[in-house]
Amino acid sequence: MTNKDIRQGTKSIWAGESDYLAFGATQVPVVHSVSFGYEDMDEWYEVAIGNKEGHIYGRNTNPTVEAFEQKVRILEGAEHATSFSTGMAAISNTLSTFLFPGDRIVSIKDSYGGTNKIFTEFLPKQNVDVSLCDTGDHEAIEAEVAKGCDVLYLETPTNPTVKITDIERMAKAGKEAGAIVIVDNTFATPINQNPLELGVDLVIHSATKFLGGHADALGGVLVGPKELVEKVYHFREINGATLDPMAAYLLLRGMKTLKLRVERQNENAQKVAEFLETVDVVDAVYYPGLPTHPNHDIAAKQMKGFGGMLSFNVKGGVDTLRHLLPKLQYANRAANLGAVETIVGPTRTTSHVECTPEERAAMGIPEGLIRYSTGIEDVEDLIEDLDQAFKALPKELFQNA
Ligand SMILES: *Cc1c(COP(=O)(O)O)cnc(C)c1O
Repeated sequence: MTNKDIRQGTKSIWAGESDYLAFGATQVPVVHSVSFGYEDMDEWYEVAIGNKEGHIYGRNTNPTVEAFEQKVRILEGAEHATSFSTGMAAISNTLSTFLFPGDRIVSIKDSYGGTNKIFTEFLPKQNVDVSLCDTGDHEAIEAEVAKGCDVLYLETPTNPTVKITDIERMAKAGKEAGAIVIVDNTFATPINQNPLELGVDLVIHSATKFLGGHADALGGVLVGPKELVEKVYHFREINGATLDPMAAYLLLRGMKTLKLRVERQNENAQKVAEFLETVDVVDAVYYPGLPTHPNHDIAAKQMKGFGGMLSFNVKGGVDTLRHLLPKLQYANRAANLGAVETIVGPTRTTSHVECTPEERAAMGIPEGLIRYSTGIEDVEDLIEDLDQAFKALPKELFQNA
């Protein structure tokens, strides 16, 4: 059997590792050596100029890091992969490789907070024209792309209200305009969504989140055609945002259970979202798996599962969430997401902390919005935990809300 024939769960465990199992090890060794030595001067030269496979210096390549890249590459069905110290390094290195003064990028308003800062703070300083469209407004994106566009950058589902963009339709629009189409697939993971199959050029992940899954290692990865990924690799090897071998090992180990975890998170999130819809204090639930989600049909078409991320709004705003969140026993109150533990946080404190309340309101983010990253706990416990926290709320908080 080739890697092509096996399924995602088997790939999570076996794919990409065999070339790196030195000494008969059954687990990929962590190679901490910064440098790789050669006795044969001709061989050294051939490796150094890229004619022969091998490693020279840790800022360029490393065997443990390469095994991690291979596993993600195979899970996303890509030709090539390269990795980075963080998800933001993957995004900034990729954009820096393809955008130059006078170029134009089209994206959405609801991108990840750090990505949004690149669009609003850094790219304009480099004289790159940035056009941000309402997320989910496909006609607006198509119109902006048709005006001329070097990069079309998408993220779906988005943070925190899990908005959905039609990837196949946007990839077509981007291609017609001659743009490089990039999708941040962090929220969906390769288990739930494979944007390359839908026609995009490049896929980025913050491996810190679901890929690693244990909130103990930072990393980023880019996959796509060799010709494009190698250009970004070259930018990264020179500019230095290299993934550390120990982090690569932790991410590799986490990825062995990727399919198990994501399937469980899909199931748990669906049940939690359905429960939240029955709670009086909750006046809105955002989850692509709910038929009430405005783009549920698009999500059902392009996703194999609806993911572990959801959000909900509580009546009474900040006062209510101030009482509610500390009462949860089985949730970390923290800014990250995608781990085995459930994680909750007010959007005003986490992804959109840099915005004013007015700016958040304009983006459709009320002050009582809570982001909920569903873990792999027994879902009955998660629901009972939420239920006891809701029942303990002082009634006067939201009676008049
Ligand atoms: C966290 C995140 C990033 C940034 O990743 P880091 O590893 O924290 O740098 C990018 N995109 C999305 C969707 C994220 O959730």
